[in-house]
Amino acid sequence: MEQAKEGRFVSRLWRVMAGLLVLLALLIGQSIYTSRSQHEEQAVVETYSVARVLESDLGGLMGKVKLALHTVALEHERRLAAGSGDGQAELTYIASVLANLPEVLGIRVFDADGREHAGPEFATTPETGAAEQPYFVRLRDEYLSGLVISRPHSHEPAGPWVIDLARRVEHPDGRFAGAVVARVPIDRLVAMLGAGDVGRQGAVTLHGEGLAVIARHPPLPGSATSSDAPAALRDLVSRGETSGTFHAISPFDGVERLYSYRKVADYPLHVTVGRATAEYLGHWRRDMGVVGALSSVLFGVGIGATLMVDRAWRRQRKVAKLLEKQAHTDALTGIANRRHFFEVADAELARSRRYEAPLSMLMLDIDHFKEVNDAHGHRAGDRVLQQLARTCLEVLREVDVVGRVGGEEFAILLPETELEGAVEVAERLREAVGRAEVPRDEGLPIRITASIGVATLSGTANLDTLMRQADAALYDAKHRGRNRVRAFDQEG
Ligand code: GH3
Ligand code: MG
Ligand code: MG
Repeated sequence: MEQAKEGRFVSRLWRVMAGLLVLLALLIGQSIYTSRSQHEEQAVVETYSVARVLESDLGGLMGKVKLALHTVALEHERRLAAGSGDGQAELTYIASVLANLPEVLGIRVFDADGREHAGPEFATTPETGAAEQPYFVRLRDEYLSGLVISRPHSHEPAGPWVIDLARRVEHPDGRFAGAVVARVPIDRLVAMLGAGDVGRQGAVTLHGEGLAVIARHPPLPGSATSSDAPAALRDLVSRGETSGTFHAISPFDGVERLYSYRKVADYPLHVTVGRATAEYLGHWRRDMGVVGALSSVLFGVGIGATLMVDRAWRRQRKVAKLLEKQAHTDALTGIANRRHFFEVADAELARSRRYEAPLSMLMLDIDHFKEVNDAHGHRAGDRVLQQLARTCLEVLREVDVVGRVGGEEFAILLPETELEGAVEVAERLREAVGRAEVPRDEGLPIRITASIGVATLSGTANLDTLMRQADAALYDAKHRGRNRVRAFDQEG
């Protein structure tokens, strides 16, 4: 009963501790998750704002170039309509427009066949084949009214990489009359892209038509091609989104980044601003290291403390058990002492009454034990008593109860046993006692005999009566010459 309570206490302690630790783990998990989300959001805000600034800068530049091309185209169309072929005046006009456009290398005018009309300051070597340029073909065949942006190219072997921005020129009747083309160096764009702070491992990219990479900061390795644009970006653009956020591992440098994407106004230009995940989560990871270490300590302390309490409880339970056992047993023989024997006997008697089961009792007393003590010493006598207890346990059943009720008097309770059976058991026990030998250091071993009185429960007899009857039978056995079994005579 007591033990079960203590067991419950310890298991409840473990349950409470486990509950607390689970709760703690949940809280830590929650805070780790929240903190990560916050860092993620922060990175989104940062890249998004850089992307917005870039979109606005690029949009502004495109607007300026578009306006310049528009002015030059109108002037050219006016001259075409007037039939005025004063190339020098047109060049002067173009130069005045260019003065306000430091970002642009030059502006040239081509006729419908792709021959250059004006703008010799444009290039050091004459360019041929403008008519074959994809943007020129598109302007001629598709009646585009807005800007067409070329792919990056280098117009001379070691020259700077550039993109061309082109606009259609028409005759008064609407026929194709050629193109006005402005040239912007990629370096200029890369400088713009590099203006925002995206961390050491960040990347800012400008994609053009078909998401071909126009410019990137830091600059792209030479082998990178347009097909390397992240799938998530292709997806966003194909769905017509003008802004968005996505995670991707860069095919160019293998770095995982969080990207914010924005389309530049209504131009076929797309900006992505990426921050390296490792970088923006770096602080978070460090913080989480500390949180992890602290929680490990906390978990360790929690489990350690519970373990200590658990151990202390177990130790104390063991001691209590031992004390209880000591209180119940006879120190010399290890069998039940007098008090415990009567406790158990009371319970057995009540049980037999309840089930109307037979119950018998034996009282055993060693014959002439004083002589054993006198002849061999008190210590040898003790060993004889120990041997007697062993003999009893050997002969008796598990359910029988043996107790040392006096110096050399043993009482034995035989549940479920009638008088006849009890006499048989007593006889067997007497014989076994007679056979048992207790060795001595020198000389022959000690042998003893015992007398046994037998009584059985009848009518309303209580434990005292039963013992008295067994005692009387024992007295009778002694009286009749010892080393024998006598049953209590109910009639006598
Ligand atoms: P009988 O019973 O046959 O009449 O003779 P007896 O000599 O055995 O007489 P009795 O039963 O009165 O003897 C009791 C003796 O048992 C007294 C004592 O010396 C001895 N005795 C009692 N307790 C112990 C014990 O713990 N150790 C030893 N060695 N002897 C004990
Ligand atoms: Mg005696
Ligand atoms: Mg005796």
